[in-house]
Amino acid sequence: MPTPATGDLVVLSKVNKHFGELHVLQDIDLTIARGEVVVVIGPSGGGKSTLCRAINRLETIDSGEISIDGRPLPAEGRELAALRADVGMVFQSFNLFAHKTVLQNVTLGQIKVRGKNRKAADERARRLLDQVGVATQADKYPAQLSGGQQQRVAIARALAMDPKIMLFDEPTSALDPEMINEVLEVMRRLARDGMTMVVVTHEMGFARSAANRVVFMAEGRIVEETTPDRFFSNPRSERAKDFLSKIL
Ligand code: ADP
Ligand code: MG
Repeated sequence: MPTPATGDLVVLSKVNKHFGELHVLQDIDLTIARGEVVVVIGPSGGGKSTLCRAINRLETIDSGEISIDGRPLPAEGRELAALRADVGMVFQSFNLFAHKTVLQNVTLGQIKVRGKNRKAADERARRLLDQVGVATQADKYPAQLSGGQQQRVAIARALAMDPKIMLFDEPTSALDPEMINEVLEVMRRLARDGMTMVVVTHEMGFARSAANRVVFMAEGRIVEETTPDRFFSNPRSERAKDFLSKIL
Protein backbone atom coordinates (compact mmCIF):
# COMPACT_ATOMS: atom_id res chain seq x y z
CA MET A 1 0.00 0.00 0.00
CA PRO A 2 1.43 3.38 -0.91
CA THR A 3 1.65 5.72 2.04
CA PRO A 4 -0.91 8.54 1.79
CA ALA A 5 0.51 11.79 0.46
CA THR A 6 1.99 14.06 3.10
CA GLY A 7 3.85 17.35 2.90
CA ASP A 8 7.09 15.48 2.32
CA LEU A 9 7.88 14.60 -1.26
CA VAL A 10 11.40 13.23 -0.97
CA VAL A 11 12.83 11.62 2.14
CA LEU A 12 16.40 10.37 2.45
CA SER A 13 17.32 8.63 5.66
CA LYS A 14 20.78 7.46 6.67
CA VAL A 15 21.89 7.20 3.05
CA ASN A 16 25.43 5.92 2.48
CA LYS A 17 27.32 5.47 -0.75
CA HIS A 18 30.93 4.44 -1.44
CA PHE A 19 33.02 4.49 -4.57
CA GLY A 20 35.65 1.94 -3.55
CA GLU A 21 37.39 3.44 -0.52
CA LEU A 22 35.72 6.80 -0.97
CA HIS A 23 32.74 7.38 1.32
CA VAL A 24 30.93 9.82 -0.94
CA LEU A 25 27.56 10.03 0.87
CA GLN A 26 27.80 9.73 4.65
CA ASP A 27 24.60 9.21 6.66
CA ILE A 28 22.63 11.69 4.61
CA ASP A 29 19.28 12.67 6.14
CA LEU A 30 17.30 15.07 4.01
CA THR A 31 13.61 15.79 3.63
CA ILE A 32 12.20 17.89 0.81
CA ALA A 33 8.67 19.21 1.15
CA ARG A 34 6.24 19.60 -1.72
CA GLY A 35 6.82 22.95 -3.42
CA GLU A 36 10.13 23.52 -1.67
CA VAL A 37 13.21 24.85 -3.46
CA VAL A 38 16.40 23.46 -1.95
CA VAL A 39 19.73 24.78 -3.18
CA VAL A 40 22.72 22.51 -2.60
CA ILE A 41 26.04 24.30 -2.31
CA GLY A 42 29.54 23.09 -1.56
CA PRO A 43 33.06 22.43 -2.75
CA SER A 44 33.79 20.26 -5.74
CA GLY A 45 33.94 16.56 -4.94
CA GLY A 46 31.63 16.93 -1.92
CA GLY A 47 28.99 14.52 -3.24
CA LYS A 48 26.39 16.91 -4.65
CA SER A 49 26.05 15.21 -8.03
CA THR A 50 26.01 11.77 -6.43
CA LEU A 51 23.19 12.94 -4.17
CA CYS A 52 21.11 14.04 -7.18
CA ARG A 53 21.90 10.87 -9.07
CA ALA A 54 20.87 8.76 -6.08
CA ILE A 55 17.49 10.50 -5.93
CA ASN A 56 16.57 9.32 -9.44
CA ARG A 57 18.53 6.13 -9.06
CA LEU A 58 21.17 6.80 -11.67
CA GLU A 59 23.34 5.64 -8.74
CA THR A 60 22.51 2.85 -6.32
CA ILE A 61 23.11 3.41 -2.62
CA ASP A 62 24.85 1.06 -0.17
CA SER A 63 22.56 1.60 2.78
CA GLY A 64 19.75 3.78 4.02
CA GLU A 65 16.47 4.63 2.31
CA ILE A 66 15.17 7.05 -0.26
CA SER A 67 11.47 7.48 -0.88
CA ILE A 68 9.56 9.69 -3.26
CA ASP A 69 5.94 10.55 -2.58
CA GLY A 70 5.81 7.88 0.12
CA ARG A 71 7.23 5.06 -2.01
CA PRO A 72 10.71 3.56 -1.74
CA LEU A 73 12.77 3.89 -4.93
CA PRO A 74 12.11 0.93 -7.21
CA ALA A 75 15.13 -1.13 -8.27
CA GLU A 76 14.28 -1.87 -11.88
CA GLY A 77 11.79 -2.36 -14.67
CA ARG A 78 8.63 -0.47 -15.42
CA GLU A 79 8.50 1.10 -11.96
CA LEU A 80 11.99 2.50 -12.37
CA ALA A 81 11.07 4.06 -15.72
CA ALA A 82 8.03 5.65 -14.05
CA LEU A 83 10.19 7.00 -11.24
CA ARG A 84 12.63 8.53 -13.71
CA ALA A 85 9.71 10.25 -15.42
CA ASP A 86 8.53 11.61 -12.07
CA VAL A 87 11.97 13.01 -11.29
CA GLY A 88 13.07 15.46 -13.97
CA MET A 89 16.79 16.01 -14.21
CA VAL A 90 18.79 18.74 -15.92
CA PHE A 91 22.54 18.29 -16.13
CA GLN A 92 25.47 20.60 -16.64
CA SER A 93 26.03 19.19 -20.14
CA PHE A 94 22.77 19.59 -21.96
CA ASN A 95 22.26 15.94 -22.90
CA LEU A 96 19.76 16.56 -25.67
CA PHE A 97 19.31 13.91 -28.36
CA ALA A 98 21.61 15.29 -31.07
CA HIS A 99 19.85 13.60 -34.00
CA LYS A 100 16.36 14.72 -33.03
CA THR A 101 14.86 18.15 -33.51
CA VAL A 102 14.04 20.36 -30.55
CA LEU A 103 10.37 19.44 -30.88
CA GLN A 104 11.16 15.72 -31.06
CA ASN A 105 13.35 16.02 -27.98
CA VAL A 106 10.36 17.30 -26.05
CA THR A 107 7.75 14.89 -27.47
CA LEU A 108 9.69 11.61 -27.34
CA GLY A 109 9.26 10.83 -23.63
CA GLN A 110 5.65 11.95 -23.61
CA ILE A 111 4.86 9.39 -26.32
CA LYS A 112 7.15 6.54 -25.22
CA VAL A 113 6.91 6.79 -21.45
CA ARG A 114 3.65 8.63 -20.80
CA GLY A 115 1.78 7.00 -23.69
CA LYS A 116 0.40 10.21 -25.20
CA ASN A 117 -0.56 10.48 -28.84
CA ARG A 118 1.56 12.63 -31.14
CA LYS A 119 -0.92 15.48 -31.40
CA ALA A 120 -1.24 15.88 -27.64
CA ALA A 121 2.54 15.56 -27.22
CA ASP A 122 3.20 18.15 -29.93
CA GLU A 123 0.78 20.62 -28.39
CA ARG A 124 2.28 20.24 -24.95
CA ALA A 125 5.83 20.51 -26.34
CA ARG A 126 5.03 23.72 -28.22
CA ARG A 127 3.48 25.28 -25.13
CA LEU A 128 6.53 24.39 -23.04
CA LEU A 129 8.97 25.61 -25.69
CA ASP A 130 7.05 28.86 -25.72
CA GLN A 131 7.24 29.11 -21.92
CA VAL A 132 11.03 28.72 -21.94
CA GLY A 133 11.35 31.17 -24.84
CA VAL A 134 12.51 28.90 -27.67
CA ALA A 135 9.26 28.35 -29.60
CA THR A 136 10.84 29.56 -32.84
CA GLN A 137 13.60 26.92 -32.61
CA ALA A 138 11.25 23.91 -32.62
CA ASP A 139 12.40 22.44 -35.93
CA LYS A 140 16.14 22.96 -35.44
CA TYR A 141 18.68 20.45 -34.16
CA PRO A 142 20.39 20.98 -30.79
CA ALA A 143 23.77 21.86 -32.36
CA GLN A 144 22.12 24.83 -34.12
CA LEU A 145 21.13 26.37 -30.77
CA SER A 146 23.17 28.36 -28.25
CA GLY A 147 24.05 26.69 -24.95
CA GLY A 148 21.42 28.74 -23.13
CA GLN A 149 18.75 27.73 -25.62
CA GLN A 150 19.77 24.06 -25.40
CA GLN A 151 19.55 24.14 -21.63
CA ARG A 152 16.08 25.69 -21.80
CA VAL A 153 15.03 22.90 -24.19
CA ALA A 154 16.42 20.39 -21.68
CA ILE A 155 14.23 21.98 -19.01
CA ALA A 156 11.17 21.83 -21.31
CA ARG A 157 11.91 18.19 -22.07
CA ALA A 158 12.00 17.31 -18.37
CA LEU A 159 8.82 19.31 -17.67
CA ALA A 160 6.98 17.54 -20.48
CA MET A 161 6.93 14.41 -18.33
CA ASP A 162 4.95 16.24 -15.63
CA PRO A 163 7.58 15.47 -12.99
CA LYS A 164 6.85 15.68 -9.28
CA ILE A 165 10.27 17.15 -8.67
CA MET A 166 13.01 18.71 -10.78
CA LEU A 167 16.70 18.15 -10.05
CA PHE A 168 19.19 20.62 -11.51
CA ASP A 169 22.88 19.70 -11.33
CA GLU A 170 24.89 22.85 -12.07
CA PRO A 171 22.62 23.77 -14.98
CA THR A 172 24.49 26.98 -15.80
CA SER A 173 28.10 25.93 -15.18
CA ALA A 174 28.82 25.14 -18.82
CA LEU A 175 27.21 28.34 -20.15
CA ASP A 176 28.76 31.55 -21.37
CA PRO A 177 28.06 34.31 -18.82
CA GLU A 178 25.53 36.14 -20.97
CA MET A 179 23.35 33.01 -21.15
CA ILE A 180 23.29 32.19 -17.47
CA ASN A 181 20.48 34.56 -16.62
CA GLU A 182 18.06 33.37 -19.27
CA VAL A 183 18.28 29.88 -17.78
CA LEU A 184 18.07 31.08 -14.16
CA GLU A 185 15.03 33.17 -15.08
CA VAL A 186 13.21 30.05 -16.34
CA MET A 187 14.13 28.29 -13.09
CA ARG A 188 12.97 31.23 -10.97
CA ARG A 189 9.61 31.16 -12.71
CA LEU A 190 9.29 27.41 -12.12
CA ALA A 191 10.05 27.96 -8.44
CA ARG A 192 7.43 30.70 -8.21
CA ASP A 193 4.89 28.42 -9.87
CA GLY A 194 5.36 25.91 -7.04
CA MET A 195 7.62 23.25 -8.57
CA THR A 196 9.56 21.19 -6.04
CA MET A 197 13.21 21.68 -6.92
CA VAL A 198 16.68 20.58 -5.85
CA VAL A 199 19.28 22.84 -7.43
CA VAL A 200 23.03 22.31 -7.22
CA THR A 201 24.59 25.62 -8.20
CA HIS A 202 27.35 28.11 -7.60
CA GLU A 203 24.99 30.96 -8.49
CA MET A 204 24.68 32.57 -5.09
CA GLY A 205 22.25 35.22 -6.37
CA PHE A 206 19.86 32.44 -7.36
CA ALA A 207 20.32 30.74 -3.99
CA ARG A 208 19.52 33.98 -2.14
CA SER A 209 16.49 34.88 -4.21
CA ALA A 210 14.87 31.52 -5.01
CA ALA A 211 15.83 29.02 -2.31
CA ASN A 212 13.66 28.18 0.66
CA ARG A 213 16.60 26.32 2.14
CA VAL A 214 20.32 26.01 1.56
CA VAL A 215 22.03 22.68 2.12
CA PHE A 216 25.80 22.97 2.42
CA MET A 217 27.58 19.73 1.56
CA ALA A 218 31.26 18.91 1.95
CA GLU A 219 33.20 15.65 2.00
CA GLY A 220 30.08 13.54 1.72
CA ARG A 221 28.18 15.13 4.58
CA ILE A 222 25.48 17.72 5.05
CA VAL A 223 27.43 20.20 7.14
CA GLU A 224 24.83 22.90 7.44
CA GLU A 225 21.19 23.29 6.46
CA THR A 226 19.40 26.59 6.94
CA THR A 227 17.64 29.53 5.27
CA PRO A 228 19.60 31.42 2.59
CA ASP A 229 19.55 34.57 4.75
CA ARG A 230 21.16 32.83 7.68
CA PHE A 231 23.56 30.84 5.56
CA PHE A 232 24.99 33.85 3.78
CA SER A 233 24.95 36.30 6.69
CA ASN A 234 25.89 33.96 9.49
CA PRO A 235 27.26 30.55 8.47
CA ARG A 236 27.89 28.48 11.58
CA SER A 237 30.48 25.94 10.47
CA GLU A 238 34.13 26.74 9.75
CA ARG A 239 33.80 24.71 6.56
CA ALA A 240 30.99 26.93 5.26
CA LYS A 241 32.75 30.14 6.35
CA ASP A 242 35.86 29.03 4.50
CA PHE A 243 33.86 28.10 1.37
CA LEU A 244 31.97 31.40 1.33
CA SER A 245 35.14 33.45 1.86
CA LYS A 246 36.51 31.91 -1.34
CA ILE A 247 33.50 32.44 -3.58
CA LEU A 248 31.89 35.69 -2.39
P1 ADP B 1 30.30 17.09 -6.53
O1 ADP B 1 29.15 17.00 -7.45
O2 ADP B 1 29.97 17.70 -5.20
O3 ADP B 1 31.49 17.77 -7.14
P2 ADP B 1 30.43 14.23 -6.92
O4 ADP B 1 29.20 13.65 -6.33
O5 ADP B 1 30.50 14.37 -8.38
O6 ADP B 1 30.77 15.61 -6.17
O7 ADP B 1 31.68 13.34 -6.51
C1 ADP B 1 31.98 13.04 -5.16
C2 ADP B 1 33.23 12.19 -5.15
O8 ADP B 1 32.96 10.93 -5.73
C3 ADP B 1 34.40 12.78 -5.95
O9 ADP B 1 35.59 12.51 -5.26
C4 ADP B 1 34.34 12.03 -7.25
O10 ADP B 1 35.61 11.96 -7.85
C5 ADP B 1 33.83 10.67 -6.82
N1 ADP B 1 33.06 9.98 -7.86
C6 ADP B 1 31.94 10.45 -8.45
N2 ADP B 1 31.44 9.55 -9.33
C7 ADP B 1 32.28 8.48 -9.29
C8 ADP B 1 32.32 7.22 -9.96
N3 ADP B 1 31.37 6.86 -10.85
N4 ADP B 1 33.33 6.38 -9.66
C9 ADP B 1 34.29 6.71 -8.76
N5 ADP B 1 34.30 7.87 -8.09
C10 ADP B 1 33.32 8.76 -8.35
MG1 MG C 1 28.88 17.79 -9.36
